[in-house]
Amino acid sequence: MTEKQCEICGAEISGPAQRIVIDGSALEVCKSCARFGKPEDKWSPVPKKMVPVERAFAVKRPKPRDYFKDLVELVPEFGRKIREGRESLGLSPEELGARIKEKATLLRKIEREEISPEDEVRKKLEKELKIKLTDQATEARVKSGIGGRGLTLGDIASIKRK
Ligand SMILES: [Zn+2]
Repeated sequence: MTEKQCEICGAEISGPAQRIVIDGSALEVCKSCARFGKPEDKWSPVPKKMVPVERAFAVKRPKPRDYFKDLVELVPEFGRKIREGRESLGLSPEELGARIKEKATLLRKIEREEISPEDEVRKKLEKELKIKLTDQATEARVKSGIGGRGLTLGDIASIKRK
């Protein structure tokens, strides 16, 4: 009656179930599936009937990369890009500064990469010089960072299908 099934492979669990946490969800699994997650420690036990709700919530949770959505990263050599963009328009730092209402000294510092432009300045530079100063690879890098997190619920779903 109280046979427990592993929530990953579906095998009946003999003895105490292993409680693990994967992707923020607590699961009761068999011993051999316990390695897919972290041992549940600071998670308080979830009543059985709550589990589907919690898991549904976990699936809808924003993916980690969403937290980085607004995180803008400057391209490497942004200073050189700005200088080249400026020079291709035949502008001196003073002239460019006058166009975007920033000090030439600030632009020089940015071109030497002594400082990073603030968002506002960066946007003005991008618009004026028609260049892109944000790093397109940011998302890819964030994605690859997920690789070390272990299994996700999506991975579990594919294990179950096997
Ligand atoms: Zn299992």
